[in-house]
Amino acid sequence: MSEAAREVKYIFVTGGVVSSLGKGVASAALGALLKARGIDVTILKLDPYLNVDPGTMNPFQHGEVFVTDDGAETDLDLGHYERFLDLNMSQKNNTTTGQIYERILHRERRGDYLGGTVQVIPHVTDEIKKHIRKAAGEDAEYRVVICEIGGTVGDIESLPFLEAIRQFRLDVGRKNSLYMHLTLIPWIPTAGELKTKPTQHSVNKLREIGIQPDVLLARTSHSLTKGIKSKISLFCNVETDAVIEALDVESIYEIPLIYHEQGLDQLVCDMLDIATGAPDLESWTEMVRGVKEPEDEITILVAGKYTDLKDSYKSIDEAFIHAGVPNNTRVVAQHIETDGITRENVAETFTGGHGLLVPGGFGERGIPGKIEAIRYARENGIPFFGICLGLQTAAIEFARNVCGLETANSMEFDLLAEHPIISLMPDQEEVVDMGGTMRLGAYPCQLKEGTKAFEAYGTPLISERHRHRYEMNNRYRDTLEEHGMVISGVSPDNQLVEMIELNDHPWFVAGQFHPEFKSRAQRAHPLFRDFIRAAREYSKKQEG
Ligand code: GLN
Repeated sequence: MSEAAREVKYIFVTGGVVSSLGKGVASAALGALLKARGIDVTILKLDPYLNVDPGTMNPFQHGEVFVTDDGAETDLDLGHYERFLDLNMSQKNNTTTGQIYERILHRERRGDYLGGTVQVIPHVTDEIKKHIRKAAGEDAEYRVVICEIGGTVGDIESLPFLEAIRQFRLDVGRKNSLYMHLTLIPWIPTAGELKTKPTQHSVNKLREIGIQPDVLLARTSHSLTKGIKSKISLFCNVETDAVIEALDVESIYEIPLIYHEQGLDQLVCDMLDIATGAPDLESWTEMVRGVKEPEDEITILVAGKYTDLKDSYKSIDEAFIHAGVPNNTRVVAQHIETDGITRENVAETFTGGHGLLVPGGFGERGIPGKIEAIRYARENGIPFFGICLGLQTAAIEFARNVCGLETANSMEFDLLAEHPIISLMPDQEEVVDMGGTMRLGAYPCQLKEGTKAFEAYGTPLISERHRHRYEMNNRYRDTLEEHGMVISGVSPDNQLVEMIELNDHPWFVAGQFHPEFKSRAQRAHPLFRDFIRAAREYSKKQEG
Protein backbone atom coordinates (compact mmCIF):
# COMPACT_ATOMS: atom_id res chain seq x y z
CA MET A 1 0.00 0.00 0.00
CA SER A 2 1.41 3.40 -0.93
CA GLU A 3 1.92 6.11 1.68
CA ALA A 4 -0.84 8.18 0.10
CA ALA A 5 -3.34 5.32 0.15
CA ARG A 6 -2.74 4.83 3.87
CA GLU A 7 -3.95 8.37 4.44
CA VAL A 8 -7.47 7.70 3.14
CA LYS A 9 -10.17 7.65 5.80
CA TYR A 10 -13.13 5.30 5.44
CA ILE A 11 -16.55 5.83 6.99
CA PHE A 12 -18.84 2.81 6.83
CA VAL A 13 -22.57 3.43 7.04
CA THR A 14 -24.84 0.52 7.96
CA GLY A 15 -28.55 0.41 8.65
CA GLY A 16 -30.57 -1.37 11.29
CA VAL A 17 -34.11 -2.18 12.46
CA VAL A 18 -35.95 -1.44 9.20
CA SER A 19 -35.10 -0.50 5.64
CA SER A 20 -35.91 2.87 4.06
CA LEU A 21 -34.47 4.92 6.92
CA GLY A 22 -32.55 7.01 4.42
CA LYS A 23 -28.97 5.73 4.63
CA GLY A 24 -28.29 7.25 1.24
CA VAL A 25 -29.41 10.69 2.33
CA ALA A 26 -27.59 10.34 5.67
CA SER A 27 -24.37 9.42 3.87
CA ALA A 28 -24.83 12.27 1.39
CA ALA A 29 -25.56 14.74 4.20
CA LEU A 30 -22.41 13.79 6.09
CA GLY A 31 -20.52 14.01 2.80
CA ALA A 32 -21.85 17.53 2.22
CA LEU A 33 -20.70 18.59 5.70
CA LEU A 34 -17.21 17.22 5.19
CA LYS A 35 -17.03 18.88 1.79
CA ALA A 36 -18.08 22.17 3.39
CA ARG A 37 -15.01 21.74 5.59
CA GLY A 38 -12.86 21.62 2.49
CA ILE A 39 -12.29 17.86 2.56
CA ASP A 40 -12.20 15.88 -0.70
CA VAL A 41 -14.86 13.31 -0.09
CA THR A 42 -16.59 10.70 -2.20
CA ILE A 43 -19.28 8.11 -1.51
CA LEU A 44 -19.64 4.50 -2.53
CA LYS A 45 -22.69 2.25 -2.32
CA LEU A 46 -22.43 -1.50 -1.93
CA ASP A 47 -25.64 -3.30 -2.84
CA PRO A 48 -26.06 -6.84 -1.55
CA TYR A 49 -28.55 -8.07 -4.17
CA LEU A 50 -27.56 -10.52 -6.90
CA ASN A 51 -28.49 -8.40 -9.90
CA VAL A 52 -25.41 -7.14 -11.73
CA ASP A 53 -26.89 -3.65 -11.71
CA PRO A 54 -30.36 -2.15 -11.24
CA GLY A 55 -30.67 -1.44 -14.99
CA THR A 56 -32.94 -4.42 -15.56
CA MET A 57 -34.93 -4.03 -12.35
CA ASN A 58 -38.51 -2.80 -12.38
CA PRO A 59 -38.80 0.75 -11.01
CA PHE A 60 -41.85 -0.47 -9.05
CA GLN A 61 -39.51 -2.61 -6.99
CA HIS A 62 -36.34 -0.67 -6.92
CA GLY A 63 -37.17 2.94 -7.68
CA GLU A 64 -35.35 4.99 -10.26
CA VAL A 65 -32.24 3.80 -12.06
CA PHE A 66 -29.65 6.56 -11.78
CA VAL A 67 -27.31 6.97 -14.75
CA THR A 68 -23.78 8.34 -14.39
CA ASP A 69 -21.67 10.22 -16.96
CA ASP A 70 -19.74 7.05 -17.74
CA GLY A 71 -22.95 5.20 -18.50
CA ALA A 72 -23.36 3.06 -15.39
CA GLU A 73 -26.93 2.20 -14.42
CA THR A 74 -26.81 2.56 -10.67
CA ASP A 75 -28.73 2.78 -7.43
CA LEU A 76 -30.76 5.92 -6.88
CA ASP A 77 -28.70 6.77 -3.80
CA LEU A 78 -25.94 7.85 -6.17
CA GLY A 79 -28.30 10.61 -7.18
CA HIS A 80 -28.35 11.86 -3.59
CA TYR A 81 -24.56 11.74 -3.48
CA GLU A 82 -24.29 13.83 -6.65
CA ARG A 83 -26.93 16.32 -5.55
CA PHE A 84 -25.50 16.85 -2.06
CA LEU A 85 -21.83 16.80 -3.02
CA ASP A 86 -22.10 18.43 -6.44
CA LEU A 87 -19.77 15.72 -7.66
CA ASN A 88 -20.01 13.32 -10.61
CA MET A 89 -20.25 9.68 -9.59
CA SER A 90 -19.12 6.82 -11.84
CA GLN A 91 -19.15 3.05 -12.21
CA LYS A 92 -16.68 2.98 -9.31
CA ASN A 93 -19.23 4.35 -6.86
CA ASN A 94 -21.67 1.44 -6.90
CA THR A 95 -21.18 -2.28 -6.87
CA THR A 96 -23.41 -5.26 -6.19
CA THR A 97 -23.02 -8.86 -5.09
CA GLY A 98 -23.82 -9.71 -8.72
CA GLN A 99 -20.80 -7.74 -9.98
CA ILE A 100 -18.47 -9.07 -7.30
CA TYR A 101 -19.38 -12.68 -8.12
CA GLU A 102 -19.31 -12.00 -11.86
CA ARG A 103 -15.68 -10.90 -11.57
CA ILE A 104 -14.69 -13.80 -9.31
CA LEU A 105 -16.40 -16.41 -11.47
CA HIS A 106 -14.77 -15.01 -14.59
CA ARG A 107 -11.37 -15.38 -12.94
CA GLU A 108 -12.19 -18.83 -11.68
CA ARG A 109 -13.12 -19.99 -15.20
CA ARG A 110 -9.87 -18.54 -16.50
CA GLY A 111 -7.97 -20.66 -13.99
CA ASP A 112 -6.57 -17.71 -12.05
CA TYR A 113 -7.06 -19.40 -8.70
CA LEU A 114 -4.61 -22.15 -9.70
CA GLY A 115 -6.71 -25.00 -8.41
CA GLY A 116 -7.48 -23.39 -5.06
CA THR A 117 -10.93 -23.49 -3.47
CA VAL A 118 -12.74 -20.19 -4.04
CA GLN A 119 -14.44 -19.04 -0.84
CA VAL A 120 -16.42 -16.14 0.63
CA ILE A 121 -13.50 -15.42 2.95
CA PRO A 122 -11.03 -14.41 1.61
CA HIS A 123 -11.95 -14.26 -2.09
CA VAL A 124 -15.30 -12.47 -1.93
CA THR A 125 -14.29 -10.23 0.95
CA ASP A 126 -11.00 -9.35 -0.77
CA GLU A 127 -12.86 -8.42 -3.94
CA ILE A 128 -15.22 -6.19 -1.91
CA LYS A 129 -12.31 -4.52 -0.14
CA LYS A 130 -10.56 -3.95 -3.46
CA HIS A 131 -13.65 -2.16 -4.73
CA ILE A 132 -13.87 0.01 -1.60
CA ARG A 133 -10.24 1.03 -2.04
CA LYS A 134 -10.75 1.83 -5.70
CA ALA A 135 -13.33 4.48 -4.78
CA ALA A 136 -10.55 6.60 -3.28
CA GLY A 137 -9.24 7.10 -6.80
CA GLU A 138 -5.73 6.96 -8.22
CA ASP A 139 -3.20 8.28 -5.70
CA ALA A 140 -5.85 8.82 -3.04
CA GLU A 141 -7.58 11.62 -4.89
CA TYR A 142 -10.22 11.50 -2.15
CA ARG A 143 -9.24 11.93 1.46
CA VAL A 144 -12.47 10.44 2.79
CA VAL A 145 -14.52 7.60 1.34
CA ILE A 146 -17.99 7.17 2.78
CA CYS A 147 -19.13 3.62 2.09
CA GLU A 148 -22.81 2.84 2.42
CA ILE A 149 -23.84 -0.80 2.80
CA GLY A 150 -27.28 -1.43 1.32
CA GLY A 151 -29.88 -3.50 3.16
CA THR A 152 -30.41 -3.94 6.87
CA VAL A 153 -28.10 -5.59 9.40
CA GLY A 154 -29.31 -9.17 9.83
CA ASP A 155 -29.99 -9.75 6.12
CA ILE A 156 -28.26 -12.90 4.87
CA GLU A 157 -27.10 -11.17 1.71
CA SER A 158 -25.20 -8.39 3.42
CA LEU A 159 -23.01 -10.68 5.55
CA PRO A 160 -19.99 -10.78 3.18
CA PHE A 161 -20.04 -6.97 2.98
CA LEU A 162 -20.17 -6.58 6.75
CA GLU A 163 -17.37 -9.10 7.12
CA ALA A 164 -15.33 -7.14 4.56
CA ILE A 165 -15.78 -3.85 6.39
CA ARG A 166 -14.95 -5.52 9.70
CA GLN A 167 -11.66 -6.68 8.21
CA PHE A 168 -11.09 -3.24 6.75
CA ARG A 169 -10.33 -1.74 10.15
CA LEU A 170 -7.59 -4.33 10.61
CA ASP A 171 -6.12 -3.26 7.28
CA VAL A 172 -6.24 0.52 7.73
CA GLY A 173 -6.35 1.03 11.49
CA ARG A 174 -8.68 2.79 13.91
CA LYS A 175 -7.73 6.31 12.92
CA ASN A 176 -8.64 5.59 9.35
CA SER A 177 -11.95 3.81 9.77
CA LEU A 178 -15.25 4.66 11.38
CA TYR A 179 -18.51 2.73 11.68
CA MET A 180 -21.73 4.69 11.65
CA HIS A 181 -25.01 2.88 12.20
CA LEU A 182 -28.35 4.36 11.17
CA THR A 183 -31.18 3.07 13.27
CA LEU A 184 -34.76 3.74 14.28
CA ILE A 185 -36.08 4.76 17.68
CA PRO A 186 -39.81 4.17 17.26
CA TRP A 187 -42.43 6.17 19.10
CA ILE A 188 -45.12 3.96 20.61
CA PRO A 189 -48.26 6.09 20.80
CA THR A 190 -50.13 3.85 23.27
CA ALA A 191 -47.24 4.05 25.73
CA GLY A 192 -46.38 7.63 24.81
CA GLU A 193 -42.74 6.56 24.72
CA LEU A 194 -39.72 6.20 22.50
CA LYS A 195 -38.32 2.67 22.49
CA THR A 196 -34.63 1.80 22.27
CA LYS A 197 -34.89 -2.00 22.24
CA PRO A 198 -34.87 -2.49 18.44
CA THR A 199 -31.70 -0.40 18.28
CA GLN A 200 -30.09 -2.44 21.04
CA HIS A 201 -30.88 -5.61 19.08
CA SER A 202 -29.56 -4.26 15.85
CA VAL A 203 -26.31 -3.07 17.44
CA ASN A 204 -25.97 -6.51 19.07
CA LYS A 205 -26.34 -8.07 15.65
CA LEU A 206 -23.48 -5.91 14.40
CA ARG A 207 -21.34 -6.75 17.42
CA GLU A 208 -21.93 -10.46 16.85
CA ILE A 209 -20.02 -10.12 13.60
CA GLY A 210 -17.33 -8.04 15.22
CA ILE A 211 -18.38 -4.49 14.41
CA GLN A 212 -18.84 -2.01 17.24
CA PRO A 213 -20.41 1.16 15.84
CA ASP A 214 -18.62 4.41 16.71
CA VAL A 215 -21.57 6.66 15.88
CA LEU A 216 -25.30 6.03 16.00
CA LEU A 217 -27.67 8.08 13.90
CA ALA A 218 -31.07 7.66 15.47
CA ARG A 219 -34.02 8.28 13.19
CA THR A 220 -37.00 9.36 15.23
CA SER A 221 -40.27 11.24 15.04
CA HIS A 222 -39.86 12.63 18.58
CA SER A 223 -36.86 14.37 20.06
CA LEU A 224 -34.55 12.13 22.12
CA THR A 225 -34.38 13.14 25.79
CA LYS A 226 -31.07 13.09 27.64
CA GLY A 227 -32.29 9.96 29.42
CA ILE A 228 -32.98 8.12 26.19
CA LYS A 229 -29.61 9.13 24.78
CA SER A 230 -27.79 7.79 27.86
CA LYS A 231 -29.78 4.59 27.70
CA ILE A 232 -28.83 4.08 24.04
CA SER A 233 -25.24 4.94 24.89
CA LEU A 234 -25.10 2.45 27.77
CA PHE A 235 -26.72 -0.46 25.99
CA CYS A 236 -25.04 0.08 22.65
CA ASN A 237 -21.61 0.94 24.00
CA VAL A 238 -21.47 4.24 22.08
CA GLU A 239 -20.54 7.55 23.74
CA THR A 240 -23.52 9.83 24.43
CA ASP A 241 -22.07 12.55 22.19
CA ALA A 242 -21.94 10.04 19.40
CA VAL A 243 -25.67 9.33 19.61
CA ILE A 244 -26.96 11.76 17.02
CA GLU A 245 -30.63 12.50 16.75
CA ALA A 246 -31.98 12.34 13.20
CA LEU A 247 -35.41 13.82 13.68
CA ASP A 248 -37.92 13.71 10.81
CA VAL A 249 -37.55 16.88 8.75
CA GLU A 250 -39.58 18.77 6.20
CA SER A 251 -36.82 18.78 3.60
CA ILE A 252 -33.92 16.35 3.22
CA TYR A 253 -31.68 19.35 2.53
CA GLU A 254 -31.99 20.36 6.19
CA ILE A 255 -30.23 17.19 7.30
CA PRO A 256 -26.62 18.41 7.00
CA LEU A 257 -27.60 21.42 9.12
CA ILE A 258 -29.21 19.39 11.89
CA TYR A 259 -26.25 17.00 11.97
CA HIS A 260 -23.91 19.96 12.19
CA GLU A 261 -25.86 21.51 15.09
CA GLN A 262 -25.20 18.31 17.01
CA GLY A 263 -21.53 18.32 16.15
CA LEU A 264 -21.48 15.25 13.92
CA ASP A 265 -18.89 16.61 11.48
CA GLN A 266 -16.54 17.67 14.29
CA LEU A 267 -16.96 14.31 15.99
CA VAL A 268 -16.16 12.42 12.81
CA CYS A 269 -13.11 14.60 12.15
CA ASP A 270 -11.88 14.06 15.71
CA MET A 271 -12.36 10.32 15.52
CA LEU A 272 -10.54 10.15 12.21
CA ASP A 273 -7.88 12.64 13.17
CA ILE A 274 -8.71 15.11 10.41
CA ALA A 275 -7.81 18.72 11.13
CA THR A 276 -9.99 21.34 9.42
CA GLY A 277 -11.78 24.53 10.33
CA ALA A 278 -15.54 24.87 10.76
CA PRO A 279 -17.62 24.16 7.65
CA ASP A 280 -18.87 27.01 5.51
CA LEU A 281 -22.62 26.40 5.46
CA GLU A 282 -23.82 29.84 4.46
CA SER A 283 -24.97 29.07 0.95
CA TRP A 284 -26.43 25.75 2.04
CA THR A 285 -28.47 27.47 4.75
CA GLU A 286 -29.64 30.02 2.20
CA MET A 287 -30.73 27.25 -0.17
CA VAL A 288 -32.68 25.49 2.62
CA ARG A 289 -34.47 28.74 3.39
CA GLY A 290 -35.37 28.98 -0.30
CA VAL A 291 -36.76 25.45 -0.24
CA LYS A 292 -38.79 25.94 2.93
CA GLU A 293 -40.11 29.47 2.62
CA PRO A 294 -40.93 30.24 -1.00
CA GLU A 295 -43.34 32.96 -2.02
CA ASP A 296 -45.42 30.93 -4.48
CA GLU A 297 -46.54 27.43 -5.15
CA ILE A 298 -47.25 25.77 -8.49
CA THR A 299 -48.35 22.31 -9.53
CA ILE A 300 -46.68 20.31 -12.28
CA LEU A 301 -48.45 17.29 -13.72
CA VAL A 302 -46.03 14.42 -14.18
CA ALA A 303 -47.44 11.98 -16.70
CA GLY A 304 -45.37 8.90 -15.98
CA LYS A 305 -46.15 5.25 -15.61
CA TYR A 306 -44.79 4.22 -12.23
CA THR A 307 -46.99 6.46 -10.14
CA ASP A 308 -47.42 4.10 -7.18
CA LEU A 309 -43.87 4.05 -5.96
CA LYS A 310 -42.61 7.35 -4.60
CA ASP A 311 -39.02 6.75 -5.63
CA SER A 312 -39.63 6.00 -9.32
CA TYR A 313 -38.97 9.60 -10.37
CA LYS A 314 -36.65 10.59 -7.54
CA SER A 315 -34.28 12.75 -9.59
CA ILE A 316 -37.17 14.61 -11.22
CA ASP A 317 -38.79 15.29 -7.85
CA GLU A 318 -35.49 16.61 -6.52
CA ALA A 319 -34.80 18.64 -9.67
CA PHE A 320 -38.16 20.37 -9.08
CA ILE A 321 -37.09 21.28 -5.54
CA HIS A 322 -33.80 22.73 -6.83
CA ALA A 323 -35.55 24.62 -9.64
CA GLY A 324 -38.07 26.06 -7.20
CA VAL A 325 -35.36 27.94 -5.29
CA PRO A 326 -34.25 30.44 -7.99
CA ASN A 327 -37.94 30.90 -8.88
CA ASN A 328 -39.04 31.51 -5.29
CA THR A 329 -41.63 28.78 -5.77
CA ARG A 330 -42.57 25.50 -4.23
CA VAL A 331 -43.16 22.91 -6.94
CA VAL A 332 -45.79 20.31 -6.21
CA ALA A 333 -45.40 17.30 -8.48
CA GLN A 334 -48.75 15.69 -9.14
CA HIS A 335 -48.14 12.26 -10.63
CA ILE A 336 -50.93 11.34 -13.00
CA GLU A 337 -51.87 8.03 -14.61
CA THR A 338 -52.39 8.57 -18.34
CA ASP A 339 -54.18 5.26 -18.94
CA GLY A 340 -57.62 6.84 -18.77
CA ILE A 341 -56.92 10.18 -20.48
CA THR A 342 -58.95 10.76 -23.64
CA ARG A 343 -59.66 13.75 -25.88
CA GLU A 344 -62.96 14.19 -24.04
CA ASN A 345 -61.64 14.28 -20.48
CA VAL A 346 -58.14 15.68 -20.95
CA ALA A 347 -59.14 19.23 -19.93
CA GLU A 348 -60.19 17.97 -16.47
CA THR A 349 -56.75 16.44 -15.96
CA PHE A 350 -55.23 19.88 -16.26
CA THR A 351 -57.42 21.47 -13.59
CA GLY A 352 -55.05 23.06 -11.10
CA GLY A 353 -51.96 22.14 -13.14
CA HIS A 354 -49.52 24.78 -14.32
CA GLY A 355 -47.24 22.66 -16.47
CA LEU A 356 -46.88 19.16 -17.91
CA LEU A 357 -43.80 16.99 -17.68
CA VAL A 358 -43.65 13.68 -19.53
CA PRO A 359 -40.73 11.71 -18.07
CA GLY A 360 -38.74 8.81 -19.47
CA GLY A 361 -40.29 5.38 -19.67
CA PHE A 362 -40.61 2.12 -21.50
CA GLY A 363 -43.47 0.24 -23.14
CA GLU A 364 -46.79 1.13 -24.66
CA ARG A 365 -49.04 1.44 -21.63
CA GLY A 366 -50.47 4.92 -21.20
CA ILE A 367 -49.02 6.30 -24.46
CA PRO A 368 -52.32 7.46 -26.07
CA GLY A 369 -53.16 9.38 -22.88
CA LYS A 370 -49.72 11.01 -22.85
CA ILE A 371 -50.19 12.08 -26.46
CA GLU A 372 -53.58 13.62 -25.63
CA ALA A 373 -52.10 15.48 -22.66
CA ILE A 374 -49.23 16.81 -24.80
CA ARG A 375 -51.66 17.95 -27.50
CA TYR A 376 -53.69 19.80 -24.87
CA ALA A 377 -50.60 21.49 -23.43
CA ARG A 378 -49.38 22.44 -26.92
CA GLU A 379 -52.72 23.87 -28.04
CA ASN A 380 -53.39 25.74 -24.81
CA GLY A 381 -50.01 27.34 -24.21
CA ILE A 382 -49.37 25.27 -21.08
CA PRO A 383 -45.63 24.85 -20.38
CA PHE A 384 -44.43 21.42 -21.46
CA PHE A 385 -41.20 19.61 -20.73
CA GLY A 386 -40.48 16.26 -22.37
CA ILE A 387 -37.76 13.95 -21.17
CA CYS A 388 -36.60 11.05 -23.37
CA LEU A 389 -39.88 9.18 -23.92
CA GLY A 390 -41.40 12.64 -23.37
CA LEU A 391 -39.56 13.93 -26.45
CA GLN A 392 -40.53 10.86 -28.43
CA THR A 393 -44.24 11.18 -27.60
CA ALA A 394 -44.15 14.93 -28.28
CA ALA A 395 -42.70 14.23 -31.72
CA ILE A 396 -45.39 11.60 -32.42
CA GLU A 397 -48.12 14.00 -31.28
CA PHE A 398 -46.79 16.77 -33.53
CA ALA A 399 -46.42 14.44 -36.51
CA ARG A 400 -49.97 13.16 -36.10
CA ASN A 401 -51.84 16.34 -35.23
CA VAL A 402 -49.80 19.07 -36.94
CA CYS A 403 -48.10 17.32 -39.87
CA GLY A 404 -51.13 15.16 -40.61
CA LEU A 405 -49.23 11.87 -40.41
CA GLU A 406 -52.00 10.04 -38.61
CA THR A 407 -50.13 6.75 -38.38
CA ALA A 408 -46.96 8.28 -36.94
CA ASN A 409 -45.59 6.14 -34.13
CA SER A 410 -42.50 4.83 -32.41
CA MET A 411 -41.14 1.45 -33.46
CA GLU A 412 -41.14 0.62 -29.77
CA PHE A 413 -44.94 0.50 -29.91
CA ASP A 414 -45.46 -0.56 -33.51
CA LEU A 415 -42.56 -2.26 -35.22
CA LEU A 416 -44.23 -1.92 -38.61
CA ALA A 417 -45.50 1.65 -38.22
CA GLU A 418 -46.19 3.35 -41.57
CA HIS A 419 -44.50 6.50 -40.27
CA PRO A 420 -41.84 5.48 -37.76
CA ILE A 421 -41.11 8.97 -36.41
CA ILE A 422 -39.13 7.30 -33.64
CA SER A 423 -37.00 4.39 -34.79
CA LEU A 424 -34.48 1.94 -33.50
CA MET A 425 -30.88 3.07 -33.74
CA PRO A 426 -29.03 0.81 -36.24
CA ASP A 427 -26.58 -0.35 -33.56
CA GLN A 428 -29.51 -1.49 -31.43
CA GLU A 429 -31.08 -3.79 -34.01
CA GLU A 430 -29.00 -6.83 -33.16
CA VAL A 431 -29.05 -6.39 -29.39
CA VAL A 432 -30.20 -9.45 -27.45
CA ASP A 433 -29.02 -8.79 -23.87
CA MET A 434 -31.21 -6.30 -22.03
CA GLY A 435 -28.70 -5.28 -19.34
CA GLY A 436 -26.36 -2.36 -20.05
CA THR A 437 -26.98 -2.26 -23.81
CA MET A 438 -28.91 0.98 -24.32
CA ARG A 439 -27.37 4.30 -25.37
CA LEU A 440 -26.07 5.12 -21.92
CA GLY A 441 -24.20 7.95 -20.28
CA ALA A 442 -23.03 11.41 -21.26
CA TYR A 443 -23.07 12.61 -24.88
CA PRO A 444 -22.37 16.09 -26.24
CA CYS A 445 -25.14 18.11 -27.82
CA GLN A 446 -24.88 21.20 -30.01
CA LEU A 447 -27.54 23.85 -29.43
CA LYS A 448 -29.01 26.20 -31.98
CA GLU A 449 -28.70 29.88 -31.12
CA GLY A 450 -31.86 31.82 -30.51
CA THR A 451 -33.75 28.83 -29.10
CA LYS A 452 -35.18 28.35 -25.62
CA ALA A 453 -32.67 25.56 -25.10
CA PHE A 454 -29.81 27.92 -25.87
CA GLU A 455 -31.32 30.61 -23.68
CA ALA A 456 -31.54 28.17 -20.76
CA TYR A 457 -27.99 26.83 -20.98
CA GLY A 458 -26.36 30.03 -22.22
CA THR A 459 -23.75 28.02 -24.09
CA PRO A 460 -23.68 26.23 -27.46
CA LEU A 461 -22.20 22.90 -26.39
CA ILE A 462 -23.71 20.88 -23.56
CA SER A 463 -23.34 17.37 -22.22
CA GLU A 464 -26.26 15.34 -20.92
CA ARG A 465 -26.90 11.75 -19.88
CA HIS A 466 -28.85 9.24 -21.95
CA ARG A 467 -30.65 5.96 -21.38
CA HIS A 468 -32.69 4.81 -24.35
CA ARG A 469 -32.78 2.56 -27.42
CA TYR A 470 -34.87 4.62 -29.82
CA GLU A 471 -34.17 7.95 -31.57
CA MET A 472 -35.91 10.51 -33.76
CA ASN A 473 -35.96 9.24 -37.32
CA ASN A 474 -33.93 11.59 -39.56
CA ARG A 475 -36.20 10.88 -42.53
CA TYR A 476 -38.89 13.04 -40.86
CA ARG A 477 -36.73 15.99 -39.85
CA ASP A 478 -37.71 18.14 -42.84
CA THR A 479 -41.43 17.44 -42.49
CA LEU A 480 -41.42 18.30 -38.80
CA GLU A 481 -39.40 21.49 -39.38
CA GLU A 482 -41.59 22.58 -42.29
CA HIS A 483 -44.54 22.45 -39.91
CA GLY A 484 -42.86 24.60 -37.30
CA MET A 485 -41.00 22.24 -35.03
CA VAL A 486 -37.59 23.60 -34.07
CA ILE A 487 -34.73 21.15 -33.76
CA SER A 488 -32.82 23.01 -31.10
CA GLY A 489 -30.16 20.45 -30.22
CA VAL A 490 -28.29 17.82 -32.24
CA SER A 491 -25.30 15.55 -31.79
CA PRO A 492 -22.14 17.36 -32.98
CA ASP A 493 -22.10 15.26 -36.19
CA ASN A 494 -25.75 16.27 -36.78
CA GLN A 495 -26.77 12.62 -36.99
CA LEU A 496 -29.05 12.57 -33.95
CA VAL A 497 -31.81 14.92 -32.86
CA GLU A 498 -31.29 15.64 -29.17
CA MET A 499 -33.70 18.52 -28.49
CA ILE A 500 -36.89 19.85 -29.99
CA GLU A 501 -39.07 22.85 -29.17
CA LEU A 502 -41.82 25.08 -30.48
CA ASN A 503 -41.45 28.82 -30.89
CA ASP A 504 -45.11 29.73 -31.07
CA HIS A 505 -45.64 28.49 -27.53
CA PRO A 506 -44.59 29.99 -24.17
CA TRP A 507 -42.36 27.00 -23.28
CA PHE A 508 -42.53 23.68 -25.10
CA VAL A 509 -39.15 21.96 -24.90
CA ALA A 510 -38.04 18.34 -24.96
CA GLY A 511 -34.74 16.49 -24.78
CA GLN A 512 -33.77 12.96 -25.73
CA PHE A 513 -31.60 12.86 -22.59
CA HIS A 514 -32.28 12.94 -18.84
CA PRO A 515 -31.46 16.40 -17.48
CA GLU A 516 -32.80 15.45 -14.04
CA PHE A 517 -29.62 13.44 -13.38
CA LYS A 518 -27.53 16.61 -13.49
CA SER A 519 -29.58 18.85 -11.24
CA ARG A 520 -27.78 19.71 -8.00
CA ALA A 521 -29.01 21.01 -4.64
CA GLN A 522 -27.20 24.29 -5.09
CA ARG A 523 -27.27 24.39 -8.88
CA ALA A 524 -30.72 23.97 -10.41
CA HIS A 525 -30.69 22.45 -13.87
CA PRO A 526 -31.18 25.21 -16.47
CA LEU A 527 -34.04 23.43 -18.27
CA PHE A 528 -35.91 22.67 -15.05
CA ARG A 529 -35.29 26.23 -13.87
CA ASP A 530 -36.75 27.74 -17.05
CA PHE A 531 -39.63 25.27 -17.17
CA ILE A 532 -40.62 26.18 -13.62
CA ARG A 533 -40.26 29.87 -14.45
CA ALA A 534 -42.64 29.44 -17.41
CA ALA A 535 -45.09 27.43 -15.27
CA ARG A 536 -45.01 30.12 -12.61
CA GLU A 537 -45.74 32.79 -15.23
CA TYR A 538 -48.59 30.65 -16.52
CA SER A 539 -50.03 30.31 -13.00
CA LYS A 540 -49.83 34.09 -12.47
CA LYS A 541 -51.68 34.62 -15.75
CA GLN A 542 -54.37 32.16 -14.65
CA GLU A 543 -54.81 34.03 -11.36
CA GLY A 544 -54.74 37.48 -12.95
N1 GLN B 1 -38.41 3.68 -24.32
C1 GLN B 1 -37.71 4.73 -24.97
C2 GLN B 1 -36.42 4.25 -25.60
O1 GLN B 1 -35.91 3.22 -25.26
C3 GLN B 1 -37.43 5.87 -24.04
C4 GLN B 1 -36.50 5.54 -22.93
C5 GLN B 1 -36.49 6.57 -21.84
O2 GLN B 1 -37.40 7.38 -21.75
N2 GLN B 1 -35.52 6.53 -20.98
O3 GLN B 1 -35.88 4.90 -26.46
